[in-house]
Amino acid sequence: MDSFTDVPRIKESSDIGQQQCRVVTEEEWLQKWQMRKIGFHKEQGHRILRKYLDVLLNGRSGLRIFFPLCGKAVEMKWLADMGHCVVGVELSECALKEFFTEQNLSYSEEPVPGISGAKVFKSTSGNISLYCCSIYDLSSTIAGRFDGIWDRGSLVAINPCDREHYANLMLSLMEGSCCYLLVSVLYDSNKHKGPPFYVPDSEIKSLFGLLISGENITSLKGKVCEIKCLEKVDDFSDQHKAWGLDYFLEVTYLLTLKSVP
Ligand code: SAH
Repeated sequence: MDSFTDVPRIKESSDIGQQQCRVVTEEEWLQKWQMRKIGFHKEQGHRILRKYLDVLLNGRSGLRIFFPLCGKAVEMKWLADMGHCVVGVELSECALKEFFTEQNLSYSEEPVPGISGAKVFKSTSGNISLYCCSIYDLSSTIAGRFDGIWDRGSLVAINPCDREHYANLMLSLMEGSCCYLLVSVLYDSNKHKGPPFYVPDSEIKSLFGLLISGENITSLKGKVCEIKCLEKVDDFSDQHKAWGLDYFLEVTYLLTLKSVP
């Protein structure tokens, strides 16, 4: 735990207010890519992954690492170069093609058995596979399970009404020893409509930290995460000021599965 001293004193609300009902359609995301409204993309990669890489890897090598809602995150190449196998999922084909072109990687394109209309783009080296489809079409049967997950701009990008579905899916994709790094954001949700959406600590706990009833997903029965907050830092920038905000915090969690008898 560190950096808490930098954080402005803010009373965190568990009420996500008007954002609860906000829906960003798939079409709107594709348009963002077309219109180049991709301010979320970090050309130099994210400082948090650099800082907590050792936590994600936890001394292991040759991992399968998942990037949900991957965009064209440059860290995918970075981790693949370290010998890990990277799997991503992204709605926008344009984002995925840009990733391979910008990273100077040749790739092949194949249909995905089991997901109608979906494609998977694979690097020629074979260690990067990026699915072009909605994350909700993916399952462990199609993509396997993962030793590590890097979730930045992902949980905070999905529609608030889909969070439970998303969390259950992520739990189902975790290997027993999976280290899941999750980056969430905190700001005054009455002042910006999102995305990124405001996800309070209390919601992270209820999504991942409580027992899931597993009505239809029997394999999830008993899956629950231990949730550790690694840091909470002020990330306020001019962009956030332009959105009408007066504070913006980035919170990093480590989720690991613990077995429940
Ligand atoms: N994680 C990336 C991108 C964050 S922006 C990064 O850190 O740069 C969120 C991305 O999710 C966008 O590229 C958007 O096209 C994609 N997306 C939104 N909804 C999705 C869904 N249901 N399934 C897959 N991708 C989705």
